[in-house]
Amino acid sequence: MSDTIRHEVGIPVPQQARTSEAESPQLISYVLPVYNEAEGIKHFHTELTDAVATRPEFDYEFIYVNDGSADGSLRILQDISKNDSRVRVVDFARNFGHQIAITAGLDYAAGEAVIVMDTDLQDPPRVSLQMIDAWLAGAEVVQARRRTRRDTPFKRATAHTYYRLLRSCSDVDIPVDTGDFRLLNRRAAEELRTFRERSRFIRGMVASMGFNQQELLFDRDERVAGETKYPMRKMLRLAADGVTGFSTAPLKLITRMGFATLALALLGIIYSVTLRLFFPEVTVSGWTMLMVVMLFLGGLQMLSLGVIGSYIGRIYSEVQQRPLYVVRDVIRHDQA
Ligand code: UDP
Ligand code: MG
Repeated sequence: MSDTIRHEVGIPVPQQARTSEAESPQLISYVLPVYNEAEGIKHFHTELTDAVATRPEFDYEFIYVNDGSADGSLRILQDISKNDSRVRVVDFARNFGHQIAITAGLDYAAGEAVIVMDTDLQDPPRVSLQMIDAWLAGAEVVQARRRTRRDTPFKRATAHTYYRLLRSCSDVDIPVDTGDFRLLNRRAAEELRTFRERSRFIRGMVASMGFNQQELLFDRDERVAGETKYPMRKMLRLAADGVTGFSTAPLKLITRMGFATLALALLGIIYSVTLRLFFPEVTVSGWTMLMVVMLFLGGLQMLSLGVIGSYIGRIYSEVQQRPLYVVRDVIRHDQA
């Protein structure tokens, strides 16, 4: 990793990382969102710590974000942190949702690499070790891509279609079949922290940043305990955030419909006026006027909606306040 040039960029590097480069091992942070996982969280922590124990050359921190669990997950997390000084627990005042929980975890993570994973063992800890290898080999972002997943056929089918649809209409290249299981190096994690929009679709944000992103295929396991914390309602909201946050397809559709309606309206107007002028005997009195006014107004309204929509689209992307560009490094050779 190019640690040497990094300090010149003017990005605040935490003191701890600065001094640790020479002697002590590099720190790897795990960001672990927890929502009502009381049944499985202890088992998860054991599996994770067993996995990282096979790679003793790094230091680790485990940042659990308790997303307003109502089932005693917090108590178990407190126990875990008592027995493991590497554990930190960020306790939310209520349920803010998976994407926000990940965001908070990222804000607190100080590692040279940050790994985000679910806490139900659907994202296997051993895969995160492979991510570390890919990172050591030079990847800046490592995305875990599901080769297979053991969810209900309904979830598999909807997810499959959704990712492909989103990709086809999105402005950024969002990889298919990737969730939020990924590794970010320090630079990419810092950059992701600058995205502060409220409706969050983190996989889209990561895709839009750039960097050297690699995919890692894995087989997604079944949940160890409990059931999915993504009911239909949350899933639909996430899906909508993905589309509205990373695609202007719905807006463009309205604009196109506007043009199409106006064109059809003009044809209709020509038709009804022609009928009135040349075949007055087939038209009912008043019909032509009604048709002309109705078609004209309808077309005009659809077109105006499209125009207004495209301004709203611009306002929307302004208020998202995303970074205009993402710099990896600034390279200078005058070391004076
Ligand atoms: N989660 C969360 N807040 C929520 C919903 C889920 O922090 O509002 C966590 C949950 O504890 C798990 C991860 O996000 O670690 C993924 O959730 P889940 O496994 O229920 O989703 P699925 O794998 O079914 O898509
Ligand atoms: Mg899960």
